[in-house]
Amino acid sequence: MRLVFLGAPGVGKGTQADRMAAQVGAKKISTGDLLREAVRQGTKLGIEAKGYMDQGKLVPDSVVIGLVRDKLADPTYAKGFILDGFPRTVHQAEELGKVLREQGMQLDRVVNFQVPREAIVKRLSGRRSCPKCQATFHVEFAPSRSGEACDRCQEKLVQRNDDTAEAIETRLKVYEEQTAPLISFYENQGLLSQLDGGGSVETVYQNLTKMLATHKMA
Ligand SMILES: [Zn+2]
Repeated sequence: MRLVFLGAPGVGKGTQADRMAAQVGAKKISTGDLLREAVRQGTKLGIEAKGYMDQGKLVPDSVVIGLVRDKLADPTYAKGFILDGFPRTVHQAEELGKVLREQGMQLDRVVNFQVPREAIVKRLSGRRSCPKCQATFHVEFAPSRSGEACDRCQEKLVQRNDDTAEAIETRLKVYEEQTAPLISFYENQGLLSQLDGGGSVETVYQNLTKMLATHKMA
């Protein structure tokens, strides 16, 4: 099973990728995790990535793709993987295509998680986290007992800067601009499936499994 999960921030694709990876014995690959791992291990690409991150700059595609290439060369990953939130641009998708061809692999399916904009804003803007123990809550879907303080350590909960309504609008706009061409890119290759990402985690997972069952997987 070789999949790509696409979708705006807050559509829940990471949760679905974790669940599916555990269920079918595939590996989830997210570029955030890859970057953190490479920095922690102090690999050549990790040191390069850290240089950009320390300056508050975006890590360039060449580094990110290098990390993905290294992972896909690992036989435990090559057997089955779910790319979560990568590629983000057509350029990255083309580079991913090259890496896969080098390894004699191809993608089975690209799943685009669709959630209405208002629902995404609701999900993201309701997030609260504890600055002390990092526990996360949601004002509507998973509130803390007191509503204001952390259940574990009683610290006052805060909203992360990038979860304010304004920041969310910007994140969604950037996502839509970058990703719209990516959707057509995979559609033209006959790889794209649209999935309704609304509803409970369980419902979405069942729909995802049903949809994938209609396609041949490696
Ligand atoms: Zn706490």
